[in-house]
Amino acid sequence: MSVKSYLVNLKSKLDTNALKLPYTFVTGNQSADMDSVVSALTFAYFSNLRSSDQYVIPLINIPKEDLKLRKDIVKLLSYHSITEDLLYFVEDFEKITGKSTDKILLNLVDHNNIQGEELHKAFNEGQVDTVGILDHHADEGEFLKADPRIIRTCGSNSSLVFNYFYDNFFHTDKDFLSKQVDVLELLLGPLLIDTSCMTQKVEEPDTKAFDAYKQGLSYSSGFQQLFVADNDKSSIENFHATLKSAKKDFSGFSFMDILRKDYKQFTFDKGDKVGFSSLGKSFKWIFTNYTKEEIEKTLGDALKVNNIDLLVMSDSFNRKDTNQYTREFAYYYEVQENNRFKSLGERAQKDLGLNDDIYGFDKIDATYQAVNEKGTFKLFNQGNTAASRKQIVPIVKNILESDNETENHL
Ligand code: ATP
Ligand code: MG
Repeated sequence: MSVKSYLVNLKSKLDTNALKLPYTFVTGNQSADMDSVVSALTFAYFSNLRSSDQYVIPLINIPKEDLKLRKDIVKLLSYHSITEDLLYFVEDFEKITGKSTDKILLNLVDHNNIQGEELHKAFNEGQVDTVGILDHHADEGEFLKADPRIIRTCGSNSSLVFNYFYDNFFHTDKDFLSKQVDVLELLLGPLLIDTSCMTQKVEEPDTKAFDAYKQGLSYSSGFQQLFVADNDKSSIENFHATLKSAKKDFSGFSFMDILRKDYKQFTFDKGDKVGFSSLGKSFKWIFTNYTKEEIEKTLGDALKVNNIDLLVMSDSFNRKDTNQYTREFAYYYEVQENNRFKSLGERAQKDLGLNDDIYGFDKIDATYQAVNEKGTFKLFNQGNTAASRKQIVPIVKNILESDNETENHL
């Protein structure tokens, strides 16, 4: 069976109301990046492989309309002939669950607490039982009875999904890897993207999964034919390069699209609503490719549309001049009462290694000043390049929730 054929079966069951209640979903996090999407799809697929009457609905936690911003995912899925109509998005969640008053069983992958408006709503209405968690973010301490409840660090969450199912249910089948090349090729995508082709953030679960995928690939000639090894690169490296360039392909995007493409939103304990966008381009690129007017308007709109107090933007890119991997940390807010955000950079300085050595700043100075007219925009070079959003969110959360903040900085 392929992941596609599972999705076709699932769709026909759903369309004919033949799915048994209660509905079981698995969803990735609100950024709906490749890791989240593939973790959800493979969790659903493996659940069905384990027991053929189990139909788990993989939910992508964004509107359908936004999938096209994730060109890397669309490309990866195209190798498996998985098209948008076989996938489920937030608008489908309400359509499907509206039909039943039964509880919904929910598995979380690549996050460990409810995310997104639609799921929050269903959860607050008592409609959702969180039954399983496989995640690699900081443990928020929720849903302690979930089974499985595996939360540990590693490069790609998809490794945890593969290892959980393989170790518990499939490893005794000696032909498993040769029979499951389709799903293994799908899993290889996020593993390579999240670990920069197994060179960064690799931990034991990633290595273990990678070894299994490589064994699986050795049975497939298709992969080697599609991503031909050349003098410089192996098939796997070429596969990674193809996905990475799709991920970094921003052609046709507005600045708002860039902000929406990989976005998460949290309400912290003191009520601060904060959005976090991961950006795939430097501010030098953004500030020279969009007009001052568009940038100013988009930042304001992003606060309004998402109803947030603060927008944190963290970008990562390789510098054109040195090819060095670089990260920047920026944030924007407008409302004056929120002056408490003013010192955020100062307070995060140590953990994130923030400094003013901003790539190409001389070229963007004018735009930087302009976006500071209506609101407050701050930009830093982030010396600690090892801290990605996974680390940045808890750091910002701690700062905004810590007690001395309001007294000291209002
Ligand atoms: P979240 O879990 O909230 O989605 P994240 O940890 O994935 O956050 P991002 O800020 O989106 O954080 O950054 C992750 C991306 O950064 C990865 O997809 C990876 O491609 C890239 N990356 C991380 N470290 C490196 C590195 N040293 N070299 C090149 N790319 C890297
Ligand atoms: Mg991510």
